[in-house]
Amino acid sequence: MINKYFRPQFIECTIIISMKTLIIYTHPEPQSMNGAMFTTAVDTLTQAGHEVQVSDLYAMQFNPVSDRANFTSIHDPAFYKQQLEEIYATRVNGFAPSIEEEQRKVEWCDLMIWQFPLWWFSAPAILKGWVDRVFAMGRFYGQGHIYETGFFHDKKALLSLTTGGGEADYVQGGLNGDLAGILRPLHRGILEFTGFSVLRPHVVYGPARQSAEERAHELEAWKTRLIHIIDESPIGIGAY
Ligand code: FAD
Repeated sequence: MINKYFRPQFIECTIIISMKTLIIYTHPEPQSMNGAMFTTAVDTLTQAGHEVQVSDLYAMQFNPVSDRANFTSIHDPAFYKQQLEEIYATRVNGFAPSIEEEQRKVEWCDLMIWQFPLWWFSAPAILKGWVDRVFAMGRFYGQGHIYETGFFHDKKALLSLTTGGGEADYVQGGLNGDLAGILRPLHRGILEFTGFSVLRPHVVYGPARQSAEERAHELEAWKTRLIHIIDESPIGIGAY
């Protein structure tokens, strides 16, 4: 007999939300603090049930030189204008296989993490070169698709970095100035520009001058943050 006032019982269940994470790792020494942070991230996210892909740029010997080798197609053989070649390659599937592979990883992920040491107030050249070659016009931005209308508006990004200087050097009025200002070209100029929402950067200040215990504590803090990373809200760099 069907009772029209019948209400189904709620069944208690746990929903595990899996996140696709891409880690771009940039350090020439696997035994470095960056190497330890990279391994911590891969292990922690995998154990939490997330899918993880990586680009270990030094291990891959990623070539950061951006030129015609980015493409299998040629739009203008007489004059190399990179962004026009990128638009053309987007149209004809003309990216070199190594570039196409990296582009697909970025397009696949929900969260992209860059793990790198701060070099000359910026990312190491191999990482900048990865951006120069992979973040192509037409494919990753352009035709009105920038910032809030960016192709990657549904993705998040996080910079995880180490420094040589101490925390007091990276505040307003400190020796090097505010770290937020130093990271702005990466946060606003690359990540938000292509639509990513930026999470709070994760910074380990001066690991080389820390004790083994302090470094172990830093790795534990990174692990704890990653376990809850799926719940984090973006910080919003914005145009200022
Ligand atoms: P490492 O020196 O490799 O590691 C620190 C220590 O951690 C090591 O003793 C290592 O054995 C230990 N360790 C590794 N794994 C573990 C583990 N699992 N548990 C405990 N300990 C572990 N700094 C600035 O502040 N601003 C700049 O602009 C800047 N520019 C630079 C430019 C260049 C070209 C270079 C080479 C350096 C620059 N630096 C700068 C310094 C640089 O940022 C630091 O040297 C770097 O961030 C330190 O990180 P690391 O991973 O290389 O540390």
